[in-house]
Amino acid sequence: MRFQTKNVHFTTKMEADEMSKTKPIYQTSAFSFNDLEDMESFFEGKKSYLYTRVGNPNTDDLGKGVADLEGAEMGVASASGLSAILAGVLAVAKSGDHIIATEDLYGGTYQLFAHELKDFGISVSFVDCSSREEIEDAVRENTVLLYTESITNPLLRVEDLEGIVKIAATHGLKTMVDNTFATPYLIRPHESGADMVVHSATKYIAGHSDVSAGVVTGNQELMMKAKSKVANLGSNLGPFDGWLGCRGLKTLSLRMERQCANAEKLASTLKGHPLIKEVFYPENAAHGGNGAIVTIDLAEAMDVHDFSRKLDWVKIVPTLAGVETSITYPVGTSHRPVPKEMREKLGVTDSMIRISVGIEDAEDIIEVFEKALT
Ligand SMILES: *Cc1c(COP(=O)(O)O)cnc(C)c1O
Repeated sequence: MRFQTKNVHFTTKMEADEMSKTKPIYQTSAFSFNDLEDMESFFEGKKSYLYTRVGNPNTDDLGKGVADLEGAEMGVASASGLSAILAGVLAVAKSGDHIIATEDLYGGTYQLFAHELKDFGISVSFVDCSSREEIEDAVRENTVLLYTESITNPLLRVEDLEGIVKIAATHGLKTMVDNTFATPYLIRPHESGADMVVHSATKYIAGHSDVSAGVVTGNQELMMKAKSKVANLGSNLGPFDGWLGCRGLKTLSLRMERQCANAEKLASTLKGHPLIKEVFYPENAAHGGNGAIVTIDLAEAMDVHDFSRKLDWVKIVPTLAGVETSITYPVGTSHRPVPKEMREKLGVTDSMIRISVGIEDAEDIIEVFEKALT
């Protein structure tokens, strides 16, 4: 080989299994074959990988890891929570179809449903999913899917999934549940009969605020459809991001255990504080805990901007679920796209702060909030 050729062909060929302790990162856009018949074997289903947009070991691991925890046959990872939601929705809905979604939606999902799906020819009705009547009134001949969230944002209402799935089944609708806030550590919607579960893996699944990813889980048939949507829409997750997601996922139980315990302590300390109008924190959400998000509505005497500046080491972010405690301002971030009348109907106020409780020492977390209040 001459210099320029040697320059690009120095890496040794890997045997299929080099027994690396951690899964190597398959940072490759495509896979190579020994001969043309070998390549043909991919299309006969005898080989797993051809082209990273269509499938990659690190990406597939993340889908499988979440599916295993959710108790699903298969999981499909994609580039973001929203792309996983879209892949799941398009696995059951096409142009001309109608879906029903909770009005309590995460802002980005609301944006996707209210604007983008409409342009795909899929119409959406937003209802209060705690009302059987509202759901049933919204059902049309072309309704195919009921979409909800297991724990809503930012008011942290825990949905009666079993009840919702039953209503949907009566009308022959599939159900899809965003389980981002609960994670399968707390709630496993498939056990209540949900057909599809979706995650913004950007949040607790990956857990370290260093990757954007999504996962949708369900049975093989639905997930093969979702997987082809991800491939054909080009919303595949990158190999390194899949690997980061897997590394984060391995500590999900440890993180959730600590974060839920810390949140419980913070919520009970803040409850009844004279400078807080209301503390939102679920009770009896699940056996494992009540989640790691605490939402507070500040008393009138408090200035929300001033308060946010006094929180010392607590970062102000437009997201949640990292190992560090952080806050967000729902009206300014997640609920910015939600019309004011809808926000008022939902009870999302201008004085609301959503706290994502981290893994620090609970005493330090409590101290920093008490100090900022006083
Ligand atoms: C963040 C979030 C999403 C969107 O996920 P991305 O990874 O940002 O695309 C969807 N649902 C919930 C509940 C979320 O918190």
